[in-house]
Amino acid sequence: MVSGAGPEIERLTALLSKLPGLGPRSARRASLALLKRKDQLLIPLTRAMQDAADRVETCRICGRLSTQNPCPTCTDPARDQTMICVVEEDSALWAMERVGAFTGTYHVLGGLLSALDGIRPEDLRLDGLVQRVRSGRVREIIMALPATVEGQTTAHYIADRLKSFDNQVEITFLARGVPVGGELDWLDDNTIAHALKSRR
Ligand code: ZN
Repeated sequence: MVSGAGPEIERLTALLSKLPGLGPRSARRASLALLKRKDQLLIPLTRAMQDAADRVETCRICGRLSTQNPCPTCTDPARDQTMICVVEEDSALWAMERVGAFTGTYHVLGGLLSALDGIRPEDLRLDGLVQRVRSGRVREIIMALPATVEGQTTAHYIADRLKSFDNQVEITFLARGVPVGGELDWLDDNTIAHALKSRR
C-alpha cells in the first residue's frame, strides 16, 4: 500500500488493483498517473465511469453490454435474426464487429463452464439461448468460443442442450486451427473474417 498518502489514494489503488492485468504495483503506478494528470485524466475518467455506470445495461435478449435494451444488434432489421454467434464475453463480440464480416446476431454467455472454477450451466446465459432457439426463428448457431478445454466443453454442452432442435438449427464452428473466442481480440481482421467464412 501507499503508506501515509491518505485513505483516498489507498482506496483508489486498492480498487485499481482489482482490474484484470493490474497487480498492486501497477495499480500504484496507475494511481500516480491519474493524480498527476487530474484535469486531463482523472476527472474525465471519473465522468466516463459514472456515465457507464448509469447508462450501460445488459441486453435482455443477447446479454451484450449496451446503452439500449434490447441492444441495437437485436433490434436492427438489417441483421439476420436467423443466425446467432455464441461468444464468451463482449470482447469477442467487439472483435467480430470490428471486422464487420458478420451480419447475424450474438449471444454472450458471460463465461465458460469450468469444473475447476465451479462455473455451472446455471451461471451462464444458457436458458436465454435455448429460449431464442425455441422461438423458431433461428437457423444457425455459430460457436465462436475459445479453443480451450472450457471453450470446447461449453460448446459441446450447448450442442447437447439444442439436440431436440436438430431439424431446425445447424450448429457450426469457426474454422479450426484458429484460436477463437476470448482470444478473438488478438487476431487481425483477415484471420477473423477467414475463420467465419470457413466455419463448418
Ligand atoms: Zn441484444
